Amino acid sequence: MSLSLIGRSIAESATLKLNETAAILREKGEPVIHLGGGEPKSKAPIDALIAASGVINSGEVRYTPADGIPALKKAINRYMEQFYGRLVAPENIIASSGAKQSLMVALQAILNPQEEVIFPAPYWVSYTEMVKLCGAIPVPVYSEDGTFHPRLIDIEQRVTSYTKAIIINSPNNPSGVMYSEEFIAEIVEFCEKRDIYLIMDDIYHRLIFDNRKIINPYDYTKIKDENSKLIVINGVSKQYAMTGFRIGWAVANRKLIEVMVNIQAHQTSGPSVVTQVAAAAAINGVQSQVESLVLTLQNNRDIMMERLNAFNGIKTTKPDGTFYTFADFSVYNKNSTELANFLLDKVRVVTVPGIEFGMDGYLRLSTCGSVKDITEGIERIKWALDPDSPNELYIGERKLVRDWL
Ligand code: PMP
Repeated sequence: MSLSLIGRSIAESATLKLNETAAILREKGEPVIHLGGGEPKSKAPIDALIAASGVINSGEVRYTPADGIPALKKAINRYMEQFYGRLVAPENIIASSGAKQSLMVALQAILNPQEEVIFPAPYWVSYTEMVKLCGAIPVPVYSEDGTFHPRLIDIEQRVTSYTKAIIINSPNNPSGVMYSEEFIAEIVEFCEKRDIYLIMDDIYHRLIFDNRKIINPYDYTKIKDENSKLIVINGVSKQYAMTGFRIGWAVANRKLIEVMVNIQAHQTSGPSVVTQVAAAAAINGVQSQVESLVLTLQNNRDIMMERLNAFNGIKTTKPDGTFYTFADFSVYNKNSTELANFLLDKVRVVTVPGIEFGMDGYLRLSTCGSVKDITEGIERIKWALDPDSPNELYIGERKLVRDWL
């Protein structure tokens, strides 16, 4: 079969594969605990549900403008004003089918083959594949100091004449680390000086803990007009627990948005009107659900940290936000894919191998499930790996006997 070079270079999504395996096991009645998930378990806001039902009940579910309906753009602008202190024109906004699509069309709009896109490691799995889909080259940057916090000096060393963009995702998937205000200020300044696009993937920016404040990149921009190369990505998926609605957006200079809209128009057209209306209602509606999600996630983070810190040999970094923890399990197995498969096989716990995020030896553990999922999940992992744990484990009625340590 003749398939394209680019197509063949794209890796299967490990997260989706694990989800599939877990679903098959669950169907067979296996007691699977999912610590691999990337979405809050709470319900979508009632405002969103009512608004979406209204559109469906009207029976008039039609195409929308390729860049999104005016009501959603208005809501996004309101969001921009509230969280970024910045009112923009409708021509500076594109609404897409998920932040993922906004990112993808942004990359397609700016990248030529062989150009390079830099992002700090650990990084969200899709950045590498999205860049490759554009025929461009992903350049992950590892911090010399071994932390999950990037340093400008490490990034600067990887910048070449081919560097077209830098992607910053803070708080970060998978580490949960929120980058410092100094770093954001530095990177904004650096990109402006070097005329490089700066893509801020802010999808988790409200999901932050311990009374942290949202960091606004526009506070540090000197170029405030249509020459700005700052692209801000956001969406409703995570903060409003609306992953399945598939609405995200990008805010950037008009020329760039125009090109992104042209691409999106031929790719998928505008996102579904049903979910655009729902997203606008979520943004304009009562926000208490976001606050309670943050409190739940912070509590889950604390429980996860407590359990992991009582686990021999595991090294952790306390997440500042998101619903992920990226823990170093290399003392048990340096091959994270092998380890994740082993844990699913032996104790039915889903985790995501660190190698997917550019760092082997780590596992990404989600805290978006219940407290019971976290405590039982970690207990099972500990039982499977730690020789000091008892030889037997009960999962419900089922008695497991460890015969591999
Ligand atoms: N950026 C990051 C860092 C993410 O983790 C995700 C979702 N996993 C996205 C973007 C895409 O979000 P959406 O559901 O809006 O496409």
